[in-house]
Amino acid sequence: MQFHLNGYRTGDPAVLAPSRPPGAQPGSDKLPDQVDVLIVGCGPAGLTLASQLAAFPDIATRIVDQKPGPLQLGQADGIACRTMEMFQAFGFSERVLKEAYWVNETCFWEPGDDGTIKRSGRIQDTEAGLSEFPHVILNQARVHDFFLDVMRNGPAGLEPDYGRVLLDVSIAQPAGSNGLAAEPCFPVTAKLRRVEGPEAGQVETVRTRYLVGCDGARSAVRKAIGRELHGDSANQAWGVMDVLAVTDFPDIRFKAAIHSAQDGSVLVIPREGGYLVRLYIELDKLQANERVAQRNITVDRLIAAAQRILRPYTLDVKEVAWWSVYEIGQRLCDRFDDVPDNDTSGRLPCVFIAGDAGHTHSPKAGQGMNVSMQDGFNLGWKLASVIRGQAVPAILHTYSAERQAIAQELIDFDRTFARMFSATPRRAGVSDTEGVDPAEFQRYFAQQGRFTAGTATTYLPSLISAEPTHQALARSFVVGTRFHSMPVVRLADGRPMELGHAATADGRWRLYIFSDATDPGNRLSRLWHLCTHLAEDAGSPVVRFTPATSDVDAVFDVRVVLQQDHRTASISDLPALLAPRKGRLNLVDYEKVFCTDSRNGDIFNMRAIDRSLGCIVVVRPDQYIANIVPLDAVEELGRFFAGFMEHGGIQRSS
Ligand SMILES: Cc1cc2nc3c(=O)[nH]c(=O)nc-3n(C[C@H](O)[C@H](O)[C@H](O)COP(=O)(O)OP(=O)(O)OC[C@H]3O[C@@H](n4cnc5c(N)ncnc54)[C@H](O)[C@@H]3O)c2cc1C
Repeated sequence: MQFHLNGYRTGDPAVLAPSRPPGAQPGSDKLPDQVDVLIVGCGPAGLTLASQLAAFPDIATRIVDQKPGPLQLGQADGIACRTMEMFQAFGFSERVLKEAYWVNETCFWEPGDDGTIKRSGRIQDTEAGLSEFPHVILNQARVHDFFLDVMRNGPAGLEPDYGRVLLDVSIAQPAGSNGLAAEPCFPVTAKLRRVEGPEAGQVETVRTRYLVGCDGARSAVRKAIGRELHGDSANQAWGVMDVLAVTDFPDIRFKAAIHSAQDGSVLVIPREGGYLVRLYIELDKLQANERVAQRNITVDRLIAAAQRILRPYTLDVKEVAWWSVYEIGQRLCDRFDDVPDNDTSGRLPCVFIAGDAGHTHSPKAGQGMNVSMQDGFNLGWKLASVIRGQAVPAILHTYSAERQAIAQELIDFDRTFARMFSATPRRAGVSDTEGVDPAEFQRYFAQQGRFTAGTATTYLPSLISAEPTHQALARSFVVGTRFHSMPVVRLADGRPMELGHAATADGRWRLYIFSDATDPGNRLSRLWHLCTHLAEDAGSPVVRFTPATSDVDAVFDVRVVLQQDHRTASISDLPALLAPRKGRLNLVDYEKVFCTDSRNGDIFNMRAIDRSLGCIVVVRPDQYIANIVPLDAVEELGRFFAGFMEHGGIQRSS
């Protein structure tokens, strides 16, 4: 963590928000008439988006929710490895690691010969080396708390405006026939009614450049843009309960998928704190168009069902912390923005939907919260870049294109997963029964490990993601996938660390330069030539797109990994770009250069980087690899960024 750049400051270095007068409550004021971004919904999608936008004090952001305050308990709890990587960028992965349950192994139970259940398998939950982070379980409400801290402490100092329900949305159509030039500045008008406190009943009107509906499965924003969720109707009822219980079931502190012969299935999810456990319990098949609420299912019924499925083991529930019943269904929206399908070249999006507003599915694969947060992360930096004049508005089309495709994959996966989980177990050696062999379910679970860990996401080539022309230079940094961190040693102070952890959720692009085998002090080397170009040449993206008044790394954070051992290289032999002068006091940033960490696996070997040629790995602000180019392909690098970046961004008055 770097701080004191603009002078010594006392207090918590994570708090960057401007100080407010004592007693001031930023969230309870009247909403402003006009904002840059209005987010509806304080679930995981909305809070991730707001946390990203909180990094930019020059963007006027507001986030509202109909609820009176933050979520207290319940809902989702699975946090995938990829999500933990994102939490690292937001600065709170350690808090989650400390508090959460770590899912190390998953157990599988199937019907035994005597009509009870028996353990049929136990596997490592996450493939070794998939991420530096584990798969963990933590209450969604705690995840919200951490994001609320990021928002509150970020440079923009954001607080949600609770107790506001979105009533109505209207969008001004572009006046000109080609749309773009005549686009109104604040095209969206939202009406919200206050539902809390002395102002209850008052209607507020807010005009906004962008409206983002993170308002869940029954999204009013989605309806306002005329979009619908399409998909299977739900016909299987499930119950979920978080309980404090005493049991002799031996795997109660393991994630366990249990299929009984006649009584249905249970998924055991041990929870944070050592005592709490979540049980997902299969209940009834529903009739067509029947809602689970009509069944009046009680928590006692959930407990009795769990006790039957777990036989011969006992379950004595001492306290129910939270419970709910729901139907399983897989539903997806065709687009995640307001652009008509037949007008994608003429119209720019100004309303978006994210999270459950665009896709719903069963909760047992633990994907809802994770995919929703990744939606918010994907959209946040794009909105910020466009509003701050750093990128062309056309990049906003990539949000729906990228995230709707991921949601489609999720729906396809979930349909199979939910069907296998709910199917009657097929008995060994009996071929004519319907149902699923528990061994097949276990295999499917293991095969889909990368998908459920969130690391399988691959974005297709677009304005902001290049064709993988130079993939051979770094075969395990796959273009379109997330930048997979590795241990390195920081040159200036010999600190072993994860390379990916140098990147924070600050909206900047990363250029990771992996040097070739030449002595990095050699001024004729490719590394020197590249750094001189990046720092001085008019065609360099750093020169073209970084405002003259900003620090040299304000838009592009250039980092280098040398092949040499950190004891043989010296920071003073390297190009000035790698120890840049920054801030009000013109201080030196010593944290740009890294060396391989031979004790924890050489990054050049582990990521299959061509040692003789090296390469540049271009990483987007949301940690996805956008391009790989040779060290001397400076024109190609410049062309890539010129395709979507704008001159003279950042300095804007809000
Ligand atoms: C009751 C419930 C139980 C769940 N249980 C599980 C579970 O057991 N396991 C699991 O993995 N997932 C579960 N989920 C799903 C998981 O919580 C979601 O996938 C995840 O929260 C999606 O995040 P989101 O931000 O898209 O939407 P949400 O978390 O649904 O957040 C939407 C927010 O928008 C607000 N809102 C809605 N309409 C308006 C409006 N008109 N005006 C203002 N505000 C509005 C809501 O109050 C809410 O705070 C559950 C969801 C719910 C609602």
